[in-house]
Amino acid sequence: MRSYQVIEWGQPLQRRERPTPSPTGTEVLLRITAAGICHTDLHIKDGYFDLGDGKRAELGKLGAQLPLTLGHEIVGVVEAVGPDATGVEIGAERIAFPWIGCRHCGICKHEREQWCATPKFLGARIDGGFSDHVMVPEPRYLVPFDGIPAPLACTYACAGLTAYSALQKLPELRPEDSLVLIGAGGVGQSALQMAPALTKARLVVADIDPAKRALAAAAGVPTIDNGAPDAVAETLALTGGGARVTIDFVGAPPTTQFGLGVLRKGGHHIVVGLYGGLLSYPLPFLPSKSLTIQGSYVGTLEELHAVVALGQAGRIAPIPVDLRPLDQAPAALDDLRAGRVTGRVVLQPAA
Ligand SMILES: [Zn+2]
Ligand SMILES: [Zn+2]
Repeated sequence: MRSYQVIEWGQPLQRRERPTPSPTGTEVLLRITAAGICHTDLHIKDGYFDLGDGKRAELGKLGAQLPLTLGHEIVGVVEAVGPDATGVEIGAERIAFPWIGCRHCGICKHEREQWCATPKFLGARIDGGFSDHVMVPEPRYLVPFDGIPAPLACTYACAGLTAYSALQKLPELRPEDSLVLIGAGGVGQSALQMAPALTKARLVVADIDPAKRALAAAAGVPTIDNGAPDAVAETLALTGGGARVTIDFVGAPPTTQFGLGVLRKGGHHIVVGLYGGLLSYPLPFLPSKSLTIQGSYVGTLEELHAVVALGQAGRIAPIPVDLRPLDQAPAALDDLRAGRVTGRVVLQPAA
């Protein structure tokens, strides 16, 4: 099998050819048909998340090991199954749920697998989708997606799921409430496309990139340039005194400042993006404005099934997908870092 791997933190991905493994136990081997590229892949390649003030959370110290095949938005065809893998047919095309825990601890059994302290995330802790094959630990992580094209379905595993799970955390919103989505990259656009199915609130999209604002405007949603000097005042005016909820799909200090700054009293700010940095905010405003700050990280297997069901019901307009051959994985990551991507780059191995 051919894979694009991180061999050394911070260095370009390298192509590696290895014998394709055979599944054992409950494992399922997928021949990959589509694999999306996410901003998080850049952080994993770099080997750290920026904690601000010069501090870093280093993945090598958190249990990640190299070499590692990146890619956590994976669709593939079942090519082989282990002797204990039941309920899955050879030839079936499935989304691989990537946010797999250790499967044994109390968090995995009773709470949310993506909170597991020793996860086995595909493309982050075990080998993922920038490859022609991937090994999935159990059949239950395979999600059918009949009726949805594979290059779009793969984006549901992170962009779609992350957006959906964040939108599930909204308080009850009335039609006159405003929901501001900050950052219209792959996840933000997914949220924009599915929000009308999940909330009655009025949507506003904020992005510093005119091309991404244009995509939102084409969907009929008012937009704000959150990099403009008068962005907060303009948003307060547009929302009639402040947003009820802001969701930050970037997660950088300027987007957090903006997101908290445009909330009305009683507002919620949900941080989804992992760009990095330190939160600085006047503490008296938390009680005096009765604000809630919440984080949301990817989503559950059940939520991925729910995203697919919404897509199958025609309630999620597709995000733009930029199909590229697997061998362009390193260049595609560079394009993503340079902001030269609108929507999602999806890699396809040669058939
Ligand atoms: Zn992702
Ligand atoms: Zn666990």
